[in-house]
Amino acid sequence: MAPGRALLEVHGLWKAFGGVQAVRDLTFSVEEGEIFGLLGPNGSGKTTVFNLVAGTLRPDRGEVRFRGISLNGVPAHRRAAMGIARTFQLVRSLAHLSVLDNVAIARLYGASPAPSVAAARREAEELLGLVGLREKASLPAAQLNLAERRRLEVSRALATRPRLLLLDEPFAGLNPEEVHAEIALFQRLRAEGLTLVLVEHNVPAVRALCGRVAFLNSGEKIAEGTPEEVLGHPRVVDIYLGRG
Ligand code: ADP
Ligand code: MG
Repeated sequence: MAPGRALLEVHGLWKAFGGVQAVRDLTFSVEEGEIFGLLGPNGSGKTTVFNLVAGTLRPDRGEVRFRGISLNGVPAHRRAAMGIARTFQLVRSLAHLSVLDNVAIARLYGASPAPSVAAARREAEELLGLVGLREKASLPAAQLNLAERRRLEVSRALATRPRLLLLDEPFAGLNPEEVHAEIALFQRLRAEGLTLVLVEHNVPAVRALCGRVAFLNSGEKIAEGTPEEVLGHPRVVDIYLGRG
């Protein structure tokens, strides 16, 4: 496989909260078009890394680069406009609004906002078709089940026309059938040229999707490589078996 171009580069990143060193000296890069996995036990710093990349947190030291451009000092809304989108571990849709309007609002932000509310609604309908929610368009978001709310989150992120999508535990709480459908959706997004970074505990899903993964423990990267390599790494095995 020909080496790709780094879309996202994280270099020497540090972040502490009071006495907790959440991210320590973290370096990794994600190439255009790949699905990169960020693994690690609860509290190992995965969501903090997403916050540092999306710009909702500032690093104590180190740098995030996107398309070769340093994001130091760049606020979150400008990062969204540059093409970085994310979903949250806890679903954040606007419960009282319709499914369609949740997506239409997101379509008014990001890299190339829709020119009008009517256009935003039209394009939101297409996005709902892509994630399989077209039939639910007029329902209040509160009436969706968990799997559907996660899909709504994905379509809201896609509405900002990202180049990089950060997915924080997208399979949590889903049944095997729903996980399967979600895997197919992410493969399709990748085939359409999107680059994905996935934080996930679901090992079969990680194996199915990710070409490369990094494993964090107490904010430090302790292994990186293919899912096979990393999940077979002795320190990773020890952590999974509670000997870490
Ligand atoms: P993960 O997503 O891997 O479960 P997090 O990035 O959420 O881990 O958390 C890493 C560590 O940083 C944990 O010890 C967590 O309690 C702490 N932490 C995360 N966010 C904050 C915050 N906003 N304030 C204080 N501590 C935080
Ligand atoms: Mg987390």
